Amino acid sequence: MTHPAQPKASHFINGEYVEDTAGTPIPVIYAATGEQIATVHAATPAIVEQALSTAKAAQKAWAKMTGTERGRILRRAADIMRERNHDLSVLETYDTGKPLQETLVADATSGADALEYFGGLAASLTGEHIPLGEDWVYTKREALGLCVGIGAWNYPTQIACWKGAPALACGNSMVFKPSETTPLCALKVAEILIEAGAPAGVFNVVQGMGEVGGALVTDPRVDKVSLTGSVPTGKKVYAAAAEGMKHVTMELGGKSPLIIFDDADLDNAVGGAINGNFYSSGQVCSNGTRVFVQKGIKEKFLARLAERTGNAILGDPMDEATSFGPMVTENQMNIVLGYIEKGKEEGARLICGGKRADMDGYFIEPTVFADVTDEMTIAREEIFGPVMSVLDFDTEEEVVARANDTEFGLSAGVFTRDFTRAHRVIGNLEAGSCFINSYNDAPVEAPFGGVKASGVGRENSKEAIKHFSQVKSVYVRMGDVDAAF
Ligand code: NDP
Repeated sequence: MTHPAQPKASHFINGEYVEDTAGTPIPVIYAATGEQIATVHAATPAIVEQALSTAKAAQKAWAKMTGTERGRILRRAADIMRERNHDLSVLETYDTGKPLQETLVADATSGADALEYFGGLAASLTGEHIPLGEDWVYTKREALGLCVGIGAWNYPTQIACWKGAPALACGNSMVFKPSETTPLCALKVAEILIEAGAPAGVFNVVQGMGEVGGALVTDPRVDKVSLTGSVPTGKKVYAAAAEGMKHVTMELGGKSPLIIFDDADLDNAVGGAINGNFYSSGQVCSNGTRVFVQKGIKEKFLARLAERTGNAILGDPMDEATSFGPMVTENQMNIVLGYIEKGKEEGARLICGGKRADMDGYFIEPTVFADVTDEMTIAREEIFGPVMSVLDFDTEEEVVARANDTEFGLSAGVFTRDFTRAHRVIGNLEAGSCFINSYNDAPVEAPFGGVKASGVGRENSKEAIKHFSQVKSVYVRMGDVDAAF
């Protein structure tokens, strides 16, 4: 019997599901059991061509609609997503393995927020009037054209919406390629947009591995590439986009610092560290995986952290009581287990977890290492799993310097009751998305993105509009033209 997660076909192009079984089969594995639940096929060159030519052809008419009309469609799509939240959350859980307890509140809901927010902004994307005596200049905010979105595997619904919603609000069309690991959810987003009234071809989904992404990025018809992925992939995609002078948004990895001063509310700080390391089993780019704890409260912090981490419920992700799911794939599990072994070898003190959980699926116990030092591998490299490194510090000056000593700059957080210090520390941290007495909140109203190797551009908020549109300026002369000859 066909599993309910099996999509009707692999791709969604020009308003309908499209199949080409000549493409390499991609098995979809449910991470909680290791069972294959669906198969899709990577896009063949013919499918890539169909998607790009369709999106190119659909864009101009879409951009000519008023912002109010485009916005209405996006807001209708948001409503449909909310009505179907339960089914979409179950699919997200099948796609990623994340527990339903999370997906019910963080995925289709966050996608719907993006569709609603950018739907609301679409009608107010205006230019300026710049008076110059009798003459004047006016500016227009115009679409970029055909955009390519490429997603990572941790938030397949959210990433499709965070890229698709602002792109479409500005009058662009999009071809979106999900990660080969999580191909299911973006198809539903495409289906819902059509149901909400989006013209066929405005938002298309094609499946495939890196080479399909590469074919999309290098196509001369593409005006912009928005990638969520790792730093090495980001460097390749950025370089390929530069070759064609395309616009880019790069949302890449991190190794973010979370700094806890000794005056912090201990339970809130522990809660922040848990949210910033163990949500989605640690598979979150902005995670605060270097937890710097001021020496005076170190042992108290570790004791409370171990106690609360012990309350994590590992189990069937479809059971709403489960609060901690598996790694997305066996491969990712093995990568993370490798880092745990490195942590042990390099002399970090294991506080809890530290191994694969004794159950089916790709579960790793939530793991905390203490006495981690700056040069250890687990403190330098992005692990993308449930491995928290706790490092000690004495002074503010010292911790800021150590926190900034990394190629990454996605996020940073500080816990303290001293507000002057909180703002001063955040002001000195090299990161794009920061938190004071909190961690990992990502409302659509706030810009999201990194500095340094963690990325270029911003998603969400009004900032995203700037990255999916361009300004045309028009000089208007009222008098005669004065020429030298
Ligand atoms: P990858 O960088 O491996 O892949 C990202 C996407 O790019 C995938 O769809 C991948 O396809 C595709 N891709 C790979 N090579 C190319 C290429 N040469 N040209 C075009 N596309 C290509 O990341 P993961 O999927 O493993 O996701 C984890 C990473 O994503 C982590 O580093 C994490 O930090 C980062 N991330 C960043 C976020 C942010 O907003 N800053 C949010 C979430 C994750 P395929 O996988 O099918 O081969």
